[in-house]
Amino acid sequence: MKKKLLFSITLLVSLTLLLTFSCTVLEPSAPPRGDKRIVLTFDDGPSKVTSIELLDVLKKHDVKVMFCYVGVNAKMHPEIVTRALNEGHQLGQHTISHNAKVLSSYDLLSKEVDEYAEFVKGLPTQKVHEMHYFRPPFGVITSPVKKMVEEKGFKYAYVTTYIHDPAVGKEGSQKLMKRLKEKLVKRGGGAMVLHEMRYIQGDGYEIDKSWLPGAVDEFLTWAKEEGFSFVFYDEL
Ligand SMILES: [Zn+2]
Repeated sequence: MKKKLLFSITLLVSLTLLLTFSCTVLEPSAPPRGDKRIVLTFDDGPSKVTSIELLDVLKKHDVKVMFCYVGVNAKMHPEIVTRALNEGHQLGQHTISHNAKVLSSYDLLSKEVDEYAEFVKGLPTQKVHEMHYFRPPFGVITSPVKKMVEEKGFKYAYVTTYIHDPAVGKEGSQKLMKRLKEKLVKRGGGAMVLHEMRYIQGDGYEIDKSWLPGAVDEFLTWAKEEGFSFVFYDEL
């Protein structure tokens, strides 16, 4: 009985810790420090608040990114996903539900990944798009995740520069973007992620992310002036 209780407590603590570090996958094969190429990724959209304007901003700067949309959100806004593909962006697989449950069940994970891939295949776009990169929900790599990634031939959509932005609303945004720039100046490029939504519970709109497109606009101008360029994972 004691053992069971201890196990439950350990599990709870581990899950809490894991959820705190949402959407971060650190990979040893990350590019060397000082490299000025950036893989820019956006997680957890599409969002009615940010996505259209964000795509406009990326178009303006001619920057291509990877969107790790959540399947349920993608299904709500197929026109946004289609536009992202038509404009040359990539999609990263991020499951349908973004629920922590998929991390502990290979069958559930595999089912969601296949369902998401089918949805993308059915979009009305000339771009044939297959998702080759997987970003686990909350960035957590468990045994079922490892097995699925190996079996389906995915690569990890790893992150080298993480700024803990999911829960940052308008009031914290300037400080956040300042921290991002400082990190990039210090480290050089690599792979980074920003969140269109905080997808942990509820509909994800409890955090005001309306600042994101404007902040990305300003960031891209700055990054290019500093000599950074934007590439896909395969180009790193
Ligand atoms: Zn996510």
